Amino acid sequence: MSSTNAGGAAICPACYGHARPLQRHTAENAAKHFIPPQRDPQRYRQLEAKLRELWQADSVEMRQCSRCEFTFADPFLAGTPEIYNLITKSDEHYPRDRFEFGMTINALRDRKVRLLEIGAGHGAFLQKAHTAGIIASAHATEYDIGAINRLQWLVNTTVSAEHFKELPMSLGPFDAICMFQVLEHLDDPHGLFTKLAELATTTADLFISVPNSAGVFVQELLTGFWEMPPNHIGRWTIQAIESVALPHGFRIVDSQTDEDSSSLSRAWRMARYRFQARAYNEDSLAGHVSAINDRRVRGPLKRVMAIWDLAFLARHVRTIPPHSRWFHLRREPRRERGRSGPQLIA
Ligand SMILES: [Zn+2]
Repeated sequence: MSSTNAGGAAICPACYGHARPLQRHTAENAAKHFIPPQRDPQRYRQLEAKLRELWQADSVEMRQCSRCEFTFADPFLAGTPEIYNLITKSDEHYPRDRFEFGMTINALRDRKVRLLEIGAGHGAFLQKAHTAGIIASAHATEYDIGAINRLQWLVNTTVSAEHFKELPMSLGPFDAICMFQVLEHLDDPHGLFTKLAELATTTADLFISVPNSAGVFVQELLTGFWEMPPNHIGRWTIQAIESVALPHGFRIVDSQTDEDSSSLSRAWRMARYRFQARAYNEDSLAGHVSAINDRRVRGPLKRVMAIWDLAFLARHVRTIPPHSRWFHLRREPRRERGRSGPQLIA
């Protein structure tokens, strides 16, 4: 059964080009991907039902735009807080450092900015930014209650648990807005940029990081481990970001991948994905390890077994792309529209 529009044509949510189907995942397989049924049958069944409810179908399709190469879930719908809580058991892990933190701090050096971070996690970036002396004041948004408690300890920082769409304009305007590894979770990108424009100064800097889409395709090809919706629902390319940012007055001024990450750390990430893919088969040894409910036992065992996967991937090590891509955008004051040009009649 197709979850797509009649005729199989779907429109790219970024540039409105036509998008062709790439993959299809059933709700059953998507739920198994996040929660092995043998680990927690009840949570697995709840998730499967929630996915059917979200998609209003038994499956979801991944599509790729022929114009901007944005790859997206169809239906293009973000996971609900209920779905995220089922997946993470409200025990989300936030890395202490990311290459994009350093890139952003470097881009803002010698300035003191009013900064907004959407999806601030435990505040690892804000802490670094405070230490670097680039923050005059900051506002952080975060859903995760545990993370919010930690954010409240940061100096000159206010915190809210609201969806960014609910943030009042009076909170801004901000000189800099950061969204690290957030955009790939969101639907309605044009709605997001409309909101960002409301909250930003007329010359604001915007920093976005997302998984490097080239890396995601290599991950699926090399390891068989899917980038499964509705966790990440968009694989953003430079062209896709540009086509969603430009109409709202933001232009890309820089874009980098984490080229400095070692080939071993890239391969180790892939090895862990390959282990997870082996665990798709419930009867395999990987499947049995993945079924262990206690993370303190499961984690070390998975790491030991992933060494075998690392050995398998050894000959591919040099071809694994960097994991993250960082974008620096800047808002440009709107150009005056020529009065003699064609006008849209409201
Ligand atoms: Zn597109």
